[in-house]
Amino acid sequence: MSAEKIARQVERELLAASYANLKTTLVMSSCASIGAAFILLRSGADWAWIWLAATLALNLFRYLRGRDVDRTVIVEADEDRLARLRLEFVGGLNASSLSWVLVALAAGHSDPAAQYMLAICFSALAAGGTGVFASMLGPGRIYISTMLLSGSFLLFDQFGQGLVMSALGVIFLAVMLLVHRRNHLIVKQSIELKIENTGLVGGLQALNRDLEAKVEERTQALLDAARSDSLTSLPNRRGLFTWMKAELDAARTDEEAAVLFLDLDHFKQINDALGHAAGDRALTTAVERLSALLPPDAILARWGGDEFVCVLAHRRDAAEDAAKLGARMIEAVTQPFEIDRQAVSLGLSVGTSLFPSQASNHKDLILAADLAVAEAKRTGRGKVVSYAETYSLTQKRRYDISRSLLEAVGTDQFQLHYQPIVERRSGEPYGYEALARWHHPRLGEVGPDEFIPIAEETGSILALGDWAIRTACQEAASWACGASAPSVAVNVSVRQLGEEGFALRVAQILTQTGLAPRRLELEVTETVFADERMKAARDNLESLRALGVALSIDDFGTGYSSLSRLLSLPVSTIKIDRSFVAELAGNGATVIESTLLIARRMGIKVIAEGIETPQQVQALADLGVDLFQGYYFGRPAPMAARGGGRPGEGSSQSIVGLRT
Ligand code: C2E
Ligand code: CA
Ligand code: CA
Repeated sequence: MSAEKIARQVERELLAASYANLKTTLVMSSCASIGAAFILLRSGADWAWIWLAATLALNLFRYLRGRDVDRTVIVEADEDRLARLRLEFVGGLNASSLSWVLVALAAGHSDPAAQYMLAICFSALAAGGTGVFASMLGPGRIYISTMLLSGSFLLFDQFGQGLVMSALGVIFLAVMLLVHRRNHLIVKQSIELKIENTGLVGGLQALNRDLEAKVEERTQALLDAARSDSLTSLPNRRGLFTWMKAELDAARTDEEAAVLFLDLDHFKQINDALGHAAGDRALTTAVERLSALLPPDAILARWGGDEFVCVLAHRRDAAEDAAKLGARMIEAVTQPFEIDRQAVSLGLSVGTSLFPSQASNHKDLILAADLAVAEAKRTGRGKVVSYAETYSLTQKRRYDISRSLLEAVGTDQFQLHYQPIVERRSGEPYGYEALARWHHPRLGEVGPDEFIPIAEETGSILALGDWAIRTACQEAASWACGASAPSVAVNVSVRQLGEEGFALRVAQILTQTGLAPRRLELEVTETVFADERMKAARDNLESLRALGVALSIDDFGTGYSSLSRLLSLPVSTIKIDRSFVAELAGNGATVIESTLLIARRMGIKVIAEGIETPQQVQALADLGVDLFQGYYFGRPAPMAARGGGRPGEGSSQSIVGLRT
């Protein structure tokens, strides 16, 4: 801002400050007038009435003229208006000064007391003027001078001292004019500072706006990158959710949206067989075809890998639209195409879900479509499955199972099957793992992989687990056996182990069934120990060990818990998960080898599970595994089928001839 411009603005601000003081000035002046008129009237000057009326009228007039003039009016006024405002203010002030001069002249003949009192009034007004009119240098000076000079004039011929008093008045005048000037400079400077600061702040704000715009631009670029997938340029998950938030939440009540979860079939084969570049080509081809079918109010996003999500917004019949589009997409994607002169064909499975009728939020909506596509894959691929079908089927079955479970436990619907665990050296059964079997009259055979998780969720696992231990102990106690009585291994769920008094109940069962504690082995999955807070579980394990009951860690290697923590527990056996046995040619061997190394040092036995072939037996024996379990040695079966309760007979395979 130029100095000239600042100076002009300072002028305006000074006038604004003067107007801001107008009311105070007028009140001060009116009070002084009333006081002066009172003094004059008492000294017999009747004309004082007229003077008072005129002065008050002048003040009222000035008030009415200046009442609405605030800072904004002055700052925004054009030059003409500004000049008029200044003139009015100065004119009013001068008129007021003049009226006081008249009083001083007229009172020259009043009695001395009145003159004294008036002189005091004049000095007070002059002194007040140094502050009140600090914003006006010239008019302020005139006002202060007229006041003090009028006062001095009144005192001039008093008691012969008048000269002295008047001289004093002139000295005061000089001092007051100085003070007034200083006040004026202070006001002016502070106004100048304020203007400069505002200019600075304004500049800063402009700079800030500039910066903000730049930051916004960069952020948008970053967001765009984060919202889209680099290979296909489709929106990614984040972009998808942003779109859904904007589109779906703005939908009308009579509209629905549909999600199509698209999962390519056989993509992995192309990737594995032809390489990643070919995989990328296949993906982009599929995306081109899918995009071509996309209606205008829809989005196609890459969910990850070979999975895509399409959302149709604002539909009357979203279910039908989704089913039709899904079918067309499958047809389009299935058309063969060429990569490196090789004919390739992809497949597509589609799962659909509806919003808001099938899910109340966007994440659940996609999850529902994901569940539906899993069902499509499970039941043959290359088709559209709606969440409604999946949902009703799986939910109903889960519901049926959870309701039937509690009634079924303890009835003859439940049975224990036994699977042998075989010793390498002797080929004799070392023990049997008890596995629960459920035959439901209406649902048929329900596998433990299905009912155990439901039982754990609903709490019926406690009754079921209790039944399993009791039954296994009872049956094992009745097995005809010689010196080397095989043990029985029972699976125990986390929930059971966390129950207070679990060890005590096991002890009671052992007493009641007469099974020697050393013949009972409890299998617990590794995950139990991951939870360090499970104090009850630890207490139970310690008590069971004291009792002589052995503990195995089941599915070892799948829970990723730290080996040292596992080994600080009273563990007697580790069961290597069957996934490692199945992968003996790969990493499985390494895992098994290192497990064996540590287990041997700690005096812990190792069982390999899930052995299905003689090659696996040989490889495991070469690694040094002592105990085997798996279909190769015998499937789980009722003990009666194993030869009337004589373990060691039945379906067990011979391991004679192994290189040991
Ligand atoms: P698990 O404890 O790992 O039991 C071994 C599972 O592997 C059994 O499945 C068994 O049939 C199967 N299996 C055995 N040998 C082979 C083989 O060579 N190849 C293959 N592919 N599989 C083999 P099952 O009986 O279906 O049991 C599944 C799971 O259910 C068990 O896994 C166990 O965690 C749980 N479970 C079964 N009965 C009970 C029970 O009474 N209580 C508790 N808490 N869980 C149980
Ligand atoms: Ca087990
Ligand atoms: Ca297992």
